Amino acid sequence: MDRTTILHAVDSVFDSELEFLAELVCHPSTRGDEQSAQDFVASQLSDRGYELDHWQIDIQDISHMPGFSPVIGNYDDAVNVVGSLRSRTRRGHSLILNGHIDVVPTGPVDMWDRAPFAPYIDGDWMYGRGAGDMKAGLASNLFALEALKHLGLRPAGDVFFQSVVEEECTGNGALACLQRGYHADAALIPEPFAEKMVSSQVGVIWFQVRLKGLPTHVAYAGSGANAIEAAVPLFEALHRLERRMNAMECRHHDYTNHTHALNLNIGKIEGGDWASSVPAWCVFDARMGVFPGQKLEDVRQMIEDTIFEAARNHPFLARSRPEVVYNGFAAEGYSFKDNKSAAARAALGALDRAHSLVAGKPLEQEAITATTDARFFGLYADTPALVYGPRAEAIHGFNERVDLEAVRRVTQTTALFIADWCGLEEQ
Ligand SMILES: [Zn+2]
Repeated sequence: MDRTTILHAVDSVFDSELEFLAELVCHPSTRGDEQSAQDFVASQLSDRGYELDHWQIDIQDISHMPGFSPVIGNYDDAVNVVGSLRSRTRRGHSLILNGHIDVVPTGPVDMWDRAPFAPYIDGDWMYGRGAGDMKAGLASNLFALEALKHLGLRPAGDVFFQSVVEEECTGNGALACLQRGYHADAALIPEPFAEKMVSSQVGVIWFQVRLKGLPTHVAYAGSGANAIEAAVPLFEALHRLERRMNAMECRHHDYTNHTHALNLNIGKIEGGDWASSVPAWCVFDARMGVFPGQKLEDVRQMIEDTIFEAARNHPFLARSRPEVVYNGFAAEGYSFKDNKSAAARAALGALDRAHSLVAGKPLEQEAITATTDARFFGLYADTPALVYGPRAEAIHGFNERVDLEAVRRVTQTTALFIADWCGLEEQ
C-alpha cells in the first residue's frame, strides 16, 4: 500500500475523528465517574465490528500482581473496555493500542474560560478537560484503524484497542488488561508528549500522612497542639529529601540533563473542624517521583525515615507519632531506552520511519518526569511500550487544550506504524 494513500485516508476520516473526540470530552470521566464515557467507547467499538470486552475490575483478581497499587475508594465504577480486531492471516506482529479514559479533576470551574466538559475548537486547538490527556490519543488510536478500514484494509496481526481507567491514580486499569490475558508484540500509548517518543519515565509513590493534635479552645491554645501547624516542618523535611534524591550522583542516566526530575508535591490537605478550636487532626496527601531502577521499598523507607526524624525533633510530634499510609500510585520508573531487545529496537524503528515520513524529521526522544501505563507492558509483560502522542497544553491545569494538527499527524503516524508493524490484509 502506498503510504501517501494511507495519509489521505486519515484526512478523509478526520472530521469524524474530531466529532468522536468532542463527544468523548463531554463525558466528565473523573475517578469514579468513568462509566458513561466507557459506555460510549464500547458502543462505538461494537458498532464498528470490534469484538467487545467490557468488564468491571475486581481488585481480588489483580492485588497479587507486580505493579498493583493500593486502591482508594471502591471499584464499582472501574470498568475497562477492550475492542479486539482479529487478523485472518496473522502474518504480522500483534499490537496493543492503549489509552486511558480517566481525567483529573477540573479544579475551580470559575478559573476556566469556559465549562471544562463542553469542548470547543478555537483555531487549531480543541479545549476541554481530557482533550489532550488523553482522549485525543484514544481518538487517534481508533481512527488510525478507521482510516485503514476506509481503504478496505485491516492489520495482518491481532490488534487490541484498550480504553482503561485508573491511569491517573494507580494504573490498575492497564494492569487488569494484563490479568485478563491481553498480550501483544508491542504497545502504543499516545500520551500527549508533543510527537516525541518517551525514552524513560519516572515512577510515582503516593502517600498520606496523618497527624493527631490536641483540641483546646483557642483562648488556651498554648495548652493544645495544632495538628495543621505540625505538618509544616514535615513539608520542609520532605523537600530536603527531594533535593537529596535529585542530586547528580543519584540520577538515572537518561536524566543527567534534568536538574529536577523527581518532584515532591504536597497535593491535598485537610484538617481541623473549627476556626476557634486548635485543630485535633490533619491529613495530607503527597506524591514523590522515583527514578527507573529505584526500588519502591527503598524510597518508602526514605520517606518514613524523613518524616519520623522530623517528628522526633518536633515538640509535639515527638509524643504523637505521625502515621504514614500508602494509597494510590505505587509505580516503578520505566526506561524504554534500557530495553535492548530486538523487539524493542524493531518497534522503535517502525515508529521512527512512520514519524519521519509524516513530520519530515527524525523522531526525538525525551525522558519525562511523569509516569504512564507503559510500565505495565515494559516491566511486567516483556512488551515494548511506545509512548508517542500529540502536543497538548495545560494538562492537569485550566483551559487544557490539544493541537488538532498534531492529532492529525499522530493519527497518520499511527496508521503508518500499524501498516509497517502488523502488515495489512483485505477487510
Ligand atoms: Zn495521561
